[in-house]
Amino acid sequence: MSRRFDAIIIGAGQAGPPLAGRLTDAGMSVALIERKLFGGTCVNTGCMPTKTLIASAYAAHLARRGADYGVMIDMPLRIDMARVKSRADAVSANARANVERWVRGMKGCTVFKGHARFLGPDTVSVGDERLSAPRIFINVGGRAVVPDWPGIDQVPYLTNTSVLALDRVPEHLVVIGGSYIGLEFAQMYRRFGAEVTVVEKGPRLIAREDEDVSQAIREILEREGITIRVGAECIHVASHAKGVAVGVDCTSGEPEIVGSHLLLAVGRRSNTDDLGLDRAGVATDSRGTIQVDDGLATNVPGIWALGDCNGRGAFTHTAYNDFEIVAANLLDGEKRKVSDRVPAYALYIDPPLGRVGVTEAEARASGRSLLVGHRPMSRVGRAIEKGETQGFMRVVVDAQTQKILGAAILGTGGDEAIHGILDTMNAGLSYKALQRAVPIHPTVSELIPTMLAGMKIAR
Ligand SMILES: Cc1cc2nc3c(=O)[nH]c(=O)nc-3n(C[C@H](O)[C@H](O)[C@H](O)COP(=O)(O)OP(=O)(O)OC[C@H]3O[C@@H](n4cnc5c(N)ncnc54)[C@H](O)[C@@H]3O)c2cc1C
Repeated sequence: MSRRFDAIIIGAGQAGPPLAGRLTDAGMSVALIERKLFGGTCVNTGCMPTKTLIASAYAAHLARRGADYGVMIDMPLRIDMARVKSRADAVSANARANVERWVRGMKGCTVFKGHARFLGPDTVSVGDERLSAPRIFINVGGRAVVPDWPGIDQVPYLTNTSVLALDRVPEHLVVIGGSYIGLEFAQMYRRFGAEVTVVEKGPRLIAREDEDVSQAIREILEREGITIRVGAECIHVASHAKGVAVGVDCTSGEPEIVGSHLLLAVGRRSNTDDLGLDRAGVATDSRGTIQVDDGLATNVPGIWALGDCNGRGAFTHTAYNDFEIVAANLLDGEKRKVSDRVPAYALYIDPPLGRVGVTEAEARASGRSLLVGHRPMSRVGRAIEKGETQGFMRVVVDAQTQKILGAAILGTGGDEAIHGILDTMNAGLSYKALQRAVPIHPTVSELIPTMLAGMKIAR
């Protein structure tokens, strides 16, 4: 059957549903196509279940540290992983149901359940249906990369999706990949009681951060008993009586790690290989990432790409901001650009890392004259009171323009406190505007003006 709409949206992740809402409010007829779970990665296999699990892991960690606070809890602690899992499942299920109810209740929106594939630049198929529209929005997200290492097809492995089905704590979890997703699972499972080894092929963890941030994160994780193996070249895997053997040619340490479970966290790729993009003529790069301009339009007029699949962000907030940009430009006559977005994100280990803008190394490489402020969390009252003094905060400012270029807050509440800096950058204000604010005591944020006041010229 052939049907015509004013707009087609492929994918009900972070950008698709709110865009359907704006377009239908503007009187358009919209076809929204979702092949699997409403809410996409964040709701079902990403942010929401992981942050819920991390909350359980934090509770376990605090309970173990109870005596530090004068709260005596009988040890050893018992983790009921089935209950931990069902708590995360419930949070995801509730959010997923809310998204589905929302889109199905939108007047003017027709929801199709199935896999969408382009037949031409204005036509897609879903099952037996043939849908066409003058505007098509692609919001198909991404999935975990499974590398083609020797032996990988002969061993059981987990990804960020299948690991969520575990209802028992693994004896020894080997996490390959020392970046955001890998480190969050590593610390969480260590706190649930597993032995954990992180294997990273690069010379340090989360290599996109400054070296001292990587080092501090490594120390935080090692202090909890996680084994870190960096510089792991030529990774190969094989089955073993105890589970999986991971062969690593590391610069130091044993050449083989035997674990009961293997989690692959080595990157993600866009869900574009089965979308028929060639039939529409939509350009991608060699990794399948859809190429877009500053307004998120593809090379084909009438087709836009939003969220992870366009490679301009890899987060829920960037996917949602893509929706805001596209909706503002199409419906409000604005000219919003993705390049106006100040990059910001968090790593949800505990304590978390809140990040905005460039790293200090990137700022130095730009050749500008810089002011740099630094403060250890051991000199932040709130952190001392909470007994959580690991980490530090740093801000980098352009000495000439007085604009903040970037900041990192690795410490308790860092994911929240970073927003004062993000907002100042977003408003295009001088650092002095933030320095002269009067923050609330006792907070982590209250030390940001103090740090700014103590900045030094970078040598
Ligand atoms: C373990 C993990 C933890 C994360 N934690 C965070 C975090 O703390 N904070 C954060 O900001 N981000 C986090 N992320 C990233 C975040 O989940 C993604 O950036 C976000 O979900 C991207 O949204 P999206 O709309 O681009 O795509 P998605 O949410 O992936 O949605 C895409 C949708 O399209 C559907 N689809 C795909 N192809 C088709 C097709 N051909 N036809 C029909 N439907 C299709 C999919 O089924 C899916 O529902 C995490 C990711 C992972 C994996």
